[in-house]
Amino acid sequence: MRINDIFKLVSAYILERDLDRRLDVKEIHRYQDKKFRKIFKIAMKTRFYRDMYRDMIDFSRNLTLDDLGVLPLIGRENIMKAHLKDLIPEGFRGNIFKVSTSGSTGKPLILLNDEFTALRCLLAFADELRAHGIDWRKDKISIIGDFSFLGPEHNYMKIFSSFFPIPKKNFQLLDVGMSIKSIMSELEKFRPDFLGGYPPIIKGLSYLKKLGMGEKLQPRVIATSGSYLDNSTKRVIRDAFDANLFDSYSSAEAGAIAHQCEEGNYHIHPELLYIEVLDDHGMRVSDGEEGYIVVTKLYGNVSPLIRYKGLGDRVKLIGVGCECGRKSIIISDIRGRRVDPIITKDHKLISPFAITRILCEFADKGLKLEGFHILQKHIDEIEIFLDAEDPDIEMIRELEKSLSRILGGVKINIKFVKHLKKNIPLVESKVDYEALVC
Ligand SMILES: [Zn+2]
Repeated sequence: MRINDIFKLVSAYILERDLDRRLDVKEIHRYQDKKFRKIFKIAMKTRFYRDMYRDMIDFSRNLTLDDLGVLPLIGRENIMKAHLKDLIPEGFRGNIFKVSTSGSTGKPLILLNDEFTALRCLLAFADELRAHGIDWRKDKISIIGDFSFLGPEHNYMKIFSSFFPIPKKNFQLLDVGMSIKSIMSELEKFRPDFLGGYPPIIKGLSYLKKLGMGEKLQPRVIATSGSYLDNSTKRVIRDAFDANLFDSYSSAEAGAIAHQCEEGNYHIHPELLYIEVLDDHGMRVSDGEEGYIVVTKLYGNVSPLIRYKGLGDRVKLIGVGCECGRKSIIISDIRGRRVDPIITKDHKLISPFAITRILCEFADKGLKLEGFHILQKHIDEIEIFLDAEDPDIEMIRELEKSLSRILGGVKINIKFVKHLKKNIPLVESKVDYEALVC
């Protein structure tokens, strides 16, 4: 890693810890503004942003966060059309890796990322754990994540372990591709203090727990992350586990975005992001109103995000003020895409991400995928709707084979559609697992 990045990490550890408890609202804004100016300079070293802002901005004056409104919003489609290297600033010499948006949005997006970004983001997750009484150096940690080669957890943990050797007795990493039953059996052997994973996986584990499995699995804290945590999932997890449950709102593109504090409110990480919540006409909403989230990432060396609207999540802006003492912006009612676990004929639960990541891998191989929707109507049949441009038949056959390997005897129907319906769950199972086995 570059010396400059090590210095930045150390200063982030010292200066940015509990920033939103130490600074008031104005000071936080000033701090964010300073970081934004640096990021804007980095962005202007990329072909992507230079082309995007050409003839739009007077670059003779320094832009501040208060000028953000003059900049255009960036969507997924802008990034998908560009060459990945166009988001690498000229002269950047560090290590980079590919990361996929894992599929919780239905539109696979592949970006390049750098080591500093990964480690800075992990530092933020460590702070979230600390707020809930978990110390990653002392407590036993189990993380169920996407450890495939494009999965964010794979790359983040690979980079983390190359700098800080992970003590195996304290860390357990389990892949979303495993069956939920095998995950449960590994967790029971390990007996973690902290359990982190995607909501549908923790929901699947909760069903098994209610069936009497995993008696020795009694984590103190459970965190969900990576996809929408709906009320029914929350209820099922709380019924099954006697643990402190919090949700961490993050994405592959933007990293750590917000986390639920001790009071249950979602605080934005002000040291990492500046957020706007906009209505459908692109105007900022007032406190208490709902809109879509737009993020400007205030750190990182490559793939800068300025006014990025591609997360596709709707949130309610609450404003500032919480019993916990943090003065960062609070959001609520985060409505992203729902993903359900898939159930096989022999009643095994399969993680939805084991399926979506296969689609992302094919997107990386060249399948021009605009979006997808997976629907399990019955226990023995799955429909996969693909919005794909000129799909290569051979590639689709390969895709079907790969899907069959994890779905066992479930019949797979791949259907092509021009446009997918809006606001539908990304992976939807109509099979009532609770009724089936409980
Ligand atoms: Zn709070």
